[in-house]
Formats: sequence, structure tokens, C-alpha cells
Amino acid sequence: MQKVTVAKGDGIGPEIMDATLSILKAAGARLEYDHIAVGEQVYLSGNTSGIDKSAWDSIRTNKIFLKAPITTPQGGGYKSLNVTMRKSLGLYANVRPCKSLHPFVKTKHPKMDVVIVRENEEDLYAGIEHQQTDEVVQCLKLITRPGCEKIVRYAFEYAKLYKRKKVSCFTKDNIMKHTDGLFHKVFKEIAAEYPEIESDNWIIDIGAARLADTPEIFDVVVMPNLYGDIVSDITAQISGSVGLAGTSNIGEECAMFEAIHGSAPDIAGKNIANPSGLLRAAIMMLNHLGQADVAEKIKNAWSCVIEKGIHTPDIYNETVSTQKVGTKEFAEAVIEHLGQKPQKLEAASYARNVKLNLPKYIRRKQANKVLKGVDIFVDWKGSNAEELAEKLQKLNSDVKLNMITNRGVKVWPEGFSETFCTDHWRCRFEVENGHPAKMGSIAKIMMDALTENLDIIKTENLYEFDGQRGYSLGQGQ
Ligand code: NAD
Repeated sequence: MQKVTVAKGDGIGPEIMDATLSILKAAGARLEYDHIAVGEQVYLSGNTSGIDKSAWDSIRTNKIFLKAPITTPQGGGYKSLNVTMRKSLGLYANVRPCKSLHPFVKTKHPKMDVVIVRENEEDLYAGIEHQQTDEVVQCLKLITRPGCEKIVRYAFEYAKLYKRKKVSCFTKDNIMKHTDGLFHKVFKEIAAEYPEIESDNWIIDIGAARLADTPEIFDVVVMPNLYGDIVSDITAQISGSVGLAGTSNIGEECAMFEAIHGSAPDIAGKNIANPSGLLRAAIMMLNHLGQADVAEKIKNAWSCVIEKGIHTPDIYNETVSTQKVGTKEFAEAVIEHLGQKPQKLEAASYARNVKLNLPKYIRRKQANKVLKGVDIFVDWKGSNAEELAEKLQKLNSDVKLNMITNRGVKVWPEGFSETFCTDHWRCRFEVENGHPAKMGSIAKIMMDALTENLDIIKTENLYEFDGQRGYSLGQGQ
């Protein structure tokens, strides 16, 4: 028996969780449950994280968490518990299968069968934000090699295990050559280890447009966090309804399974919520736990119910539905069909006793890292870059001013008068003779800047790694 932590959550949470647990029991899932409270009541009791220590202990001991949706109270400084959990537990892979249930659930894309694999911990979700000047705030986009390797390998291993044919990568590396560039580079490296699986790369904008228009050309799609957040909701919606989709959040130690929808307070307590999203998350959990036999049994029974037109009100449609049922009755119908296979929808057939082969990340040989200069960011209320350059050129060191940009656009030397400038100036100092810069020179520039009354708000060192420039050029440089 595998022990699983369960949270019934808020709103429709308890109804859809009871329905899901009743199906798991009837199907013979080899599971025991440890119930915890998370969400609204915990938030409102004064715990702004929405979860207390005993609940954390349960999740960290059992390592598997089946979670119903929770309500996040508005205002009051409450943090999203989902984001906290994903990051605290290292749940780096968010997997969201989106398959059409045509003709039983309305969709414009009857052939779509896409799995979005979203990086779940880093990117702009590192949550490192600063206001630096009156006019400028920044959010750091952190992309790491371990993060990229883990998620891309997960996508390929998933494709291999579930006999998928292709893995696509979505990035914006034509613009973000270093951050998204690393994701794409790692994708190419890892794709080469799986020659039996087709791979391709898309710039996210056209990739997302094609995914919304012609999803059948995609199979597994892997992408960084923010793109994945947006694209996975679109994909679930165009497959029929966000109410039908389940998702898994997978880490090296722990995993969390949930429906993608929220707590739907508008329909709570009415026995009309569709439990399918949470049930499909539970099916993913069973597969993750090596109980593919039970997962298959439940998925097939569920498909039978859907194709017989036994539908909850959210997907009820007079042309295809035969019976409008409540949450409880839908679960009873699934239980009645356990052991049967669907006639029209594809019957599930999951691989037995196999796990994704996910090796631990191994740090590479350290690169030769050479300091070449520094970007000094200055809060300056002037508008003429020449004037700022004159002040900066007085700073005496072995690194010399060679460029000023404003919002990334070169404004000195030889900027355009049309370029709009804020009070946030990036001033690049680099060595001229090709030798390494000295850290002391950078410190000296900053000390000299103080005497010139320059308001330095941040510095960023410029490095080469094994002879490769580790920083972007200015636009127009
Ligand atoms: P929601 O997903 O709860 O509801 C959106 C609409 O979809 C509503 O009309 C609702 O009735 C309907 N709906 C959702 N799930 C359904 C189901 N299973 N069956 C039938 N209809 C369903 O989104 P919301 O209203 O924006 O959010 C409500 C609360 O849920 C908020 O507090 C939000 O923070 C929270 N939320 C939680 C999670 C989570 O716990 N993972 C995710 C999203 C939102």
C-alpha cells in the first residue's frame, strides 16, 4: 500500500475529491490516505502561506500529494500556495496532457493530442523583482543548465515511455539568446541522445499560434515556465474545456497531482462540478506510482462514461449527451463501468512497471571564466547621453566606457534622437587590450563614481566562459 497525502481543498474541492476517492477505492487502487488541510481556512486563520508545518511534514514524508483546488483569498498579502509548493518541493516538471474527446466533447480540433511539459521552478517565476529608479522596475529571468537539462530530459523520457513520436521546443531565443538560448541549446544536446524520437524547435510566438490553430502537428511540447503557463491553459481550453484536464507536478523526491481548474466557488456544494480533471490527475498519479493496471481500468471506465453521453452540466450538450448527471452520479457511473473498454474513444494501454529514467544532474567541468568588464546601471535624470558619457569617461580605470544603452538600445556613441530614454542607463565598461579585467578596477570605478555623484543602482560583471562571450550586445551595437 502506498501512502498518499490528500487535501480536499475549498469550493468544489471536497465534492470532486470524494468522487475521485470513491472511484480509486472501487478500482482497487493500492493506496492509503493521509488527509491534510490547506487553503482558505488555513489562510484565514492567519497563516499567509495557506499550509502549516504538520501538512508539510505529511507531504514530505509520503512524497505523493493529491490536491483538490484551493481558494486564494484576494488581497491581504496571501501568496499562491501552488507556486510555494512547486518551488519548495522542487517540483520541476509540470505535465499537462490535452487530448480531444471528439465528438463527445465539443472542440474545433478533433485530432489534437498534445502533452505540454512546462518547466515549473525558474524563469521569471524566481520572483526576484526590484524597483531601481523612479521609472524602472525589473524582474530577473533565471534560466539554469540544471533546470533546462532536467525538464528537457523529462520531456524526452516521457515521450519514450508513452510512445510519443515527437518532442518540440518553444523558446524566444532569437531575442533572448543567452537565457532562452541555453534552453534551446540543451534541447538540441538532449534530443541527440534520443534519435528514435523526432524533435523540432519553434520560436514561441509562431509555435503558440500554430498550436492554437493546428494542434495535431504537435505531440510533446517542452518550454520554459512562463510560456508553459500561458500555452498550457490555451491548449487545455482548445481541447474542449479546462474543466477536464489534470496535471502532474513532478520533482526528484515528491510529486503533486491536481486538476488544472480552480475551486469554482460559484458552483460549490451543488453536486454539479465535473470531477474529471482531478480524476485524470489521479490517473497520472497511479501511473507515476507504478499502478498502471488501476490507472488503465479507471481511464477506460471514464472514457466509456464520456462516450455514452453521461455528462456533468459543464460539458452537457443536447446533440451528444444522453444523461445530465451530478458529481456523485458521474462517479457512480464510472464505478459501474470499471472493467469495460470504450468502443469509440481510444482504450488506454499504459506501460507496466516502468519508470522514467531520470538521472541526477551532474555538474560539468568548470569553464575558464574571464572577467572582461562591467555593466554599471545608473539612475540619471538627464536626457542627453553625451552628457552622461562625459561624466563616465572621467572615471579612470583599465576598463573603459564603450557603450551606453537605455532599455537595451544603444544611445551612445551615436544614438538616434528618436530613441525614448528613461532614467535607467546601462553603461558598459570593457577592457580594450583583450587582457582580463581586474576586479579591483571595477571597485575603483564605483568609488570614483561616488565622487562624481553618480547614482549607481546595480552592476553586472561581464565574463567570457571558455572564450565565449557570456553577455548580450546592446541593440544597435
Ligand atoms: P475556476 O477554475 O475555479 O472557475 C472558472 C469557471 O469554471 C467557473 O465558472 C467555474 O464554475 C467553472 N469550473 C471550474 N471547475 C469546474 C468543474 N470541475 N466543473 C464544472 N465547472 C467548473 O477559476 P476562478 O473562478 O478564477 O478561481 C476560483 C478560485 O480558485 C480562486 O480563489 C483561485 O485563486 C483558485 N484557483 C485555485 C487553483 C488551484 O488550487 N490549483 C487553480 C486556479 C484557481
